[in-house]
Amino acid sequence: MTTAVRKVQNRNQARLLRLLRDRGPLSRAELTDAVTLSKSKVAVELDRLTAAGLVQDAGQAASRGGRPSSLVRLWDGLRFAGIDVGATSINVAITDGGLTTLAQRQGDIDVSQGPEVVLRAASQMVRDLRAETGTESLAGIGAGVPGPVSFSEGFSVVPPIMPGWDKYPVRDRLSEEFDCPALLDNDVNIMAVGEFHAGAARGIGTFMFVKLGTGVGAGIFVDGHVHRGVDGSAGDIGHIQVHDQGPVCACGNIGCLEAFFSGAALRRDAVLAAQEGRSPFLAARLAERGALDVLDVADAATAGDPVVIAMIREGGRHIGEVLAKLVSFFNPGMIVIGGGLSNLGGTLLAELRGTIYRRSLPLATRNLPVVMSELGDSAGVLGAVRMISDHVFSHDPALRMADVRELA
Ligand SMILES: [Zn+2]
Repeated sequence: MTTAVRKVQNRNQARLLRLLRDRGPLSRAELTDAVTLSKSKVAVELDRLTAAGLVQDAGQAASRGGRPSSLVRLWDGLRFAGIDVGATSINVAITDGGLTTLAQRQGDIDVSQGPEVVLRAASQMVRDLRAETGTESLAGIGAGVPGPVSFSEGFSVVPPIMPGWDKYPVRDRLSEEFDCPALLDNDVNIMAVGEFHAGAARGIGTFMFVKLGTGVGAGIFVDGHVHRGVDGSAGDIGHIQVHDQGPVCACGNIGCLEAFFSGAALRRDAVLAAQEGRSPFLAARLAERGALDVLDVADAATAGDPVVIAMIREGGRHIGEVLAKLVSFFNPGMIVIGGGLSNLGGTLLAELRGTIYRRSLPLATRNLPVVMSELGDSAGVLGAVRMISDHVFSHDPALRMADVRELA
């Protein structure tokens, strides 16, 4: 029996483990107060968790008067791995049980090369990081990919930019290879979880994370949980139609939000502005490099190029108009903006905010900060390990449905 998930026997054990994960070492007295159980019941559960290799003693706590209470912490050999697969890059991290990153690595990949090539690279990175951190076994792996995911089945379903990944059993393959529970979600949802765990949305139970990257998508958080919808496609806002005439989208439809504004759309518009001579700044960059990316556009805006600034503002308006509709529908407590286009900075954020506030009712926006991601490139991996640790530190059968070993 190598998987920690089998070791959590009841709801109280799950609560104790999550408390220790989120608050660090605690005294037995503090744990007893926090879970409102009797001292003897807490002692019994802690003994069981210690025997299962999930927690350990951590010396004496400072006295609160009376008898000293001993400190308890998560077992210091507990390890989680997170894998965040993007369209062109991959980010892998190994953390301890409290989700502190012990080692992290980023690499270049092309997701269109298919799951065999990409997962081989991901597995090698996990193995390298295990060696680097002296990790013997993993308690769980969380992973995200840049396309629609059936969460309950652990694979992608007809992902537009990921040929060969349709129904490929990513979750089960990772679980088998590393002999631990694994979960797979789309990249936007794990980024949202990351911002909730340790980023801009810390302590905000109901919010929306919007990824403006190669494509556009949203992670929807309701009362501290990701809302995935019936099939896992909730938040796929990039293909909401903003105009019945407009550019053809990668999905084949016309006038989708991400065909108007996304990393891909911005590169297209930037190259056009350079070639048509409307932006001397971008024309010079294009001549120098042979291609343009988001950072070139950001530089052009910083240099005051009026055509580029107008381009960003128009894009921000398109995104803002869609978000305003979602705000009316969902009334989030915060909107967090992440992904590569957040490099466009203040101009984009100002336009987004202005449009959302102008197009929404005052009741929906009076408590609505619209902010940039705090975690940047680390949001995805951190969210992936938080997702799998929630699963491992749980006793809810519905949450554990993904663990193939539990079903066997
Ligand atoms: Zn589309």
